[in-house]
Amino acid sequence: MRAHAMIFLGAPGAGKGTQAREVAKHFGIPQISTGDILRDAVKRQTPQGLVAKAKMESGGLVPDEVVCGIVEGRVGQPDCQRGFILDGFPRTLAQAEFVNQMLQAKGRGRPQVLDIEVDEDLLLKRLTGRRTCSLCGEIYNVHFNPPKVEGVCDKDGGKLLQRADDNEATIRQRLDAYHNQTSPLIEYYRRQGVLHDINGNAEPEVIAKGLLEFLSQA
Ligand code: ADP
Repeated sequence: MRAHAMIFLGAPGAGKGTQAREVAKHFGIPQISTGDILRDAVKRQTPQGLVAKAKMESGGLVPDEVVCGIVEGRVGQPDCQRGFILDGFPRTLAQAEFVNQMLQAKGRGRPQVLDIEVDEDLLLKRLTGRRTCSLCGEIYNVHFNPPKVEGVCDKDGGKLLQRADDNEATIRQRLDAYHNQTSPLIEYYRRQGVLHDINGNAEPEVIAKGLLEFLSQA
């Protein structure tokens, strides 16, 4: 593994989180998901959570200062010294500039950026069909990998929930935010010579295998 910092780019539903988890496990480095950290802050009603809640429910982006502050704090933890994966961050050019400065200040050099590309109709099915176990966090999809019993986790019997922002109106806003604010990062990183494109239309296991092969050689 060449780079210390890896960034997963991709539209909502592209499978960033799923792939980042596999890669993090493989290399033994932490996965930093701003979406997960924000959802936890909302649940605990922290000051950051209170700012984030309305934005997340509408499908818009949480302000740059809030997410940059979260990432800076997390990356400063000892377990990030060997490297880390940013999942869902950066999402704006200002956030991308922030990451570059942060890495430079830490003497880490450029990140390695993996862009997961998925067709729009498939994204919609993945998002509207997604269900998550309230106990263990296992992810199902009513279209592609349904649980044996509807609404119940195969592993521990936990209740399956739909994420608050996985409804159709919010999904449209999230995809708009991606197209308007995040997709310019693809060219930004391509120009820096650090972008690697990944076809995300296949099964998660197939994508993970190709991804790990690529990263082991990189
Ligand atoms: P997805 O990529 O499927 O939309 P995430 O869990 O990554 O899901 O993000 C959920 C929501 O959290 C986003 O719609 C946005 O409101 C907020 N969020 C997450 N990461 C960022 C970020 N880097 N900048 C701004 N908002 C963010």
